[in-house]
Amino acid sequence: MKQLVLVGGGHSHAIALRQFGLNPISDVQITLITEAEDTPYSGMLPGHVAGFYSYEDCHINLRSLCEFAKARLIVDRAVGLERDRVVCEQNTIAFDFVSIDIGSTPNIPAQAKGIGAKPISKFLKWWDEFAKSNPEQFAIVGGGTGGVELALNMQHRLPNTAIHLFQRDREVMPKHNAWVRRKFKQLLVQRGIILHLGKAIESIEFDPNTIVWVTQASAPDWIRQSGLKVDDEGFILVNDALQSISHPQVFAAGDIATMINHDRPKAGVFAVRQGKPLFQNLSLALNNQPLKPYHPQKTYLSLIGTGDHLAVASYGLLGARSRLLWRMKDSIDRTFMNQFRYSN
Ligand SMILES: Cc1cc2nc3c(=O)[nH]c(=O)nc-3n(C[C@H](O)[C@H](O)[C@H](O)COP(=O)(O)OP(=O)(O)OC[C@H]3O[C@@H](n4cnc5c(N)ncnc54)[C@H](O)[C@@H]3O)c2cc1C
Repeated sequence: MKQLVLVGGGHSHAIALRQFGLNPISDVQITLITEAEDTPYSGMLPGHVAGFYSYEDCHINLRSLCEFAKARLIVDRAVGLERDRVVCEQNTIAFDFVSIDIGSTPNIPAQAKGIGAKPISKFLKWWDEFAKSNPEQFAIVGGGTGGVELALNMQHRLPNTAIHLFQRDREVMPKHNAWVRRKFKQLLVQRGIILHLGKAIESIEFDPNTIVWVTQASAPDWIRQSGLKVDDEGFILVNDALQSISHPQVFAAGDIATMINHDRPKAGVFAVRQGKPLFQNLSLALNNQPLKPYHPQKTYLSLIGTGDHLAVASYGLLGARSRLLWRMKDSIDRTFMNQFRYSN
C-alpha cells in the first residue's frame, strides 16, 4: 500500500482531505501529521478576536475530517524531512509522497519580545487571558492587512485600551490600492488607534507581554535544512502542479509554498484555492499519471472586516465599505466552514 503523508492541517490540506473523503482512492494509506487537532480558518479569525464568532465557528476539527477521509491522524510536530520520511518530535513517518501545508509565522527579530499572531492557537490562548485583564495599553507590530484587521477587531473587544500600531512603511496596507489604504488609515484614527508610521517598535518601551507581532511571513528552519529548494525567505519552491522543483515526491501548498511562475501574497484565500488542485495532483502522482498545471487568479477580491459588522472590499483598483459587504463576507465564511460540519 502506498503511503501519502500530509504535514500540517492548513487550509489546502483541509480541502484536500475533504476531497479524499468524497473521492476515495484504493491502496493508499493517508496520514495527517498535525500539531493541533483543530485548525483555524483565517477568514473568521479576526471576527473571533472581536467576539463575533465562537471558537467552534472558526475552527475545523481535523480528527472528524480525518475520519471522513479515512485518514490516520497523528498529533505531533514535524521537525525535519528526510528522503522518504518525516521526522516529528515523537514519531518518524515513512512516505512515498508527502505534502506540506504548515502555514507560516510572523518574522520576529532575534532579540525581540512579545507574542506572534501565529501559531494562532498560542495567540488565541494569550488573547483570551489578556483581554480579560483589562489592559491599559498594548502594541501591534505590522501594518499589513493582518495587523490592521486585527487592530480594528481587538479595539472592538477592548474599546477603552490604548492600542499602538507600528508600521515600518509610511502607510498601512501597502499592497492595497490608494482608496483602501486611505479608508483604513481614516478608520484606525477614528477608532482611536495610535499610529506610528515609518517607525520600528525598538524605539518605544513596552511590556513584552503586550506586544503582538503581525509582521511578514517566515518559514521554519527545518524546511531549508531538509535540502528542498527554497526561495530567499525559506519557502518551498513549487511548480504549477504544486510539486517541489527539487524533490518530485514532495508537494507543498499554502503559505509555506512559493509558486515559481506566480507571485502571489501569502493569504488564506490562495491556500484555500490550492486545495483542489493539490488533491488532484496528489491523486495523479499516486497513480503514476502526468500532473495537471494550476494557474492561480491574478486579481482577487479581499473582504476585510472592520470590527463593527462592516467590511471593506478591495479588488484591484476598486474599493468600497458597507454593512452588506460584511453580510456577504459572513455568508461566504460560514458556507466555507459548513462544508466541514457534516463530518463532525
Ligand atoms: C491576524 C491574521 C489575520 C489574517 N486574516 C486573513 C484573512 O482575513 N484572509 C486571508 O486570506 N488571509 C488572512 N491571513 C493570512 C492567513 O492566515 C494565511 O495566509 C493562511 O492561514 C495560510 O494557510 P495555510 O494553509 O498555509 O496554513 P495555516 O492555516 O496557517 O495552517 C497551518 C497548520 O499547520 C499546523 N502546523 C504548523 N507547523 C506544523 C508542524 N511543524 N507540524 C505539524 N503541524 C504544523 C498548524 O497548527 C496549522 O493547523 C491572516 C493572517 C493573520 C496573522
